[in-house]
Amino acid sequence: MGNCCAGSGDAEPEAAADPSTRRAGASVQAGGASPSSAPAQNKPPAAIGPVLGRPMEDVRSIYTVGKELGRGQFGITSLCTHKATGQKFACKTIAKRKLSTKEDVEDVRREVQIMYHLAGQPNIVELKGAYEDKQSVHLVMELCAGGELFDRIIAKGKYTERAAAALLRTIVEIIHTCHSLGVIHRDLKPENFLLLSKEEDAPLKATDFGLSVFYKQGEVFKDIVGSAYYIAPEVLKRNYGPEADIWSVGVIVYILLCGVPPFWAESEHGIFNSILRGQIDFSSDPWPRISPGAKDLVRKMLNSDPKKRISAYDVLNHPWIKEDGEAPDTPLDNAVMNRLKQFKAMNQFKKAALRVIAGCLSEEEIRGLKEMFKSMDSDNSGTITVDELRKGLGKQGTKLTEAEVEQLMEAADADGSGTIDYEEFITATMHMNRMDREEHLYTAFQYFDKDNSGYISKEELEQALREKGLLDGRDMNEIVSEVDADNDGRIDYSEFVAMMRKGAPEGANPKKRRDVML
Ligand code: ADP
Ligand code: MG
Repeated sequence: MGNCCAGSGDAEPEAAADPSTRRAGASVQAGGASPSSAPAQNKPPAAIGPVLGRPMEDVRSIYTVGKELGRGQFGITSLCTHKATGQKFACKTIAKRKLSTKEDVEDVRREVQIMYHLAGQPNIVELKGAYEDKQSVHLVMELCAGGELFDRIIAKGKYTERAAAALLRTIVEIIHTCHSLGVIHRDLKPENFLLLSKEEDAPLKATDFGLSVFYKQGEVFKDIVGSAYYIAPEVLKRNYGPEADIWSVGVIVYILLCGVPPFWAESEHGIFNSILRGQIDFSSDPWPRISPGAKDLVRKMLNSDPKKRISAYDVLNHPWIKEDGEAPDTPLDNAVMNRLKQFKAMNQFKKAALRVIAGCLSEEEIRGLKEMFKSMDSDNSGTITVDELRKGLGKQGTKLTEAEVEQLMEAADADGSGTIDYEEFITATMHMNRMDREEHLYTAFQYFDKDNSGYISKEELEQALREKGLLDGRDMNEIVSEVDADNDGRIDYSEFVAMMRKGAPEGANPKKRRDVML
């Protein structure tokens, strides 16, 4: 797929020289390239970085890297400031010399792919860009100035049941989203949940997808990864799947409620033995005073048998979580289904633009969706049938009626063939992934603006929709008028951007006001 921006997908050196094509990591929100400044100077082609597989770029030419915010097993995360706008971000720097094996390199590459795949989810730290230079890989992310959940727990000692239930809800919603998008986190612990700000009620954000993997239904993992207190027994037995994440969250809730981990010993070996024994202490202080509902839920999350362990979906419907009355009574939708539903509701113009953008994305940006497609395409035919879609979605915890499957199929099946092919699937599901970045949007705009006038006319729109096989008999005037804010009968770049960003996940795109675009 993909032909709109030559070389962008495979990151040929030439691609880096032209700022109007996709440039790794150069996705700056505020003050992004305007149409007039986009095709600018010609730089010599940069060498391809061995880790990310795309042109090397100096992160310090775009950001000022400041004080350290935290460090983990693999990287040091520092505050960084976007030079042009003054906006603050976090930059995780991973030294390439520490990546000694092929697997280490693979892990970093996957971390980037998975973060792109999960972009747009409100409670997941958003990756703004990935850069590679000679020494390091830098991941520029949304800044979480409130620090780690871990430090908040320590500062408080423990949480009230109500506060713990609210946190658990958010955490499990995140896990449900990850799982329904085909990702197991594998390193859930309070250190990897950050608070967006120092405010008491700051939103929680999951981070550190350094150990995460894409999974297909029924796939079994064997590598022992994670952090000792939080590792599920089946991980220690080298036979696990997504349920292991639920266990880790069970451990987090136990700690939230009483302040100490449920499986504890002086040594790692001792901790593992305790996990395998699976005895949970509900008799020591403060447990006798904790509600039976809380204990019931923790027990169900810490069931040693992953098959009997409560699912993310059922946690969200557990009475303890619902106690404060905040629980919505609508069942949680599957993330894939939501994406397809929203796609169906879009006009043909936006669908066509998404197709153009899909053709510009790098392998890295598209990898997650490709994995998801492959996991549904059980006979490897390159297309998904109604049956495969139903099974694929069903496995992710949604029970769909025949009519709903038909509806979704219709949503994604733009060419009416009765099956969804790879390109259709990518287009229909990518639009929540925050791939509406400036350089992609500009390339897409140029695709429609055939005569380079700075405006998309009705005729140009009609021609483009025809080329994309998306003419559905709707009057062009009608489509244009939905987007044409200033009523001049044509679409300028800011109107185009506003259309593309409309319906983006809340909070994911703070700069969507028109006046900041141009
Ligand atoms: P590692 O893979 O090395 O564990 P993490 O991604 O967990 O790296 O980052 C290490 C630490 O850096 C985190 O525990 C946190 O304290 C800090 N950190 C990471 N990402 C951010 C962020 N987006 N905003 C603020 N601090 C962060
Ligand atoms: Mg970490």
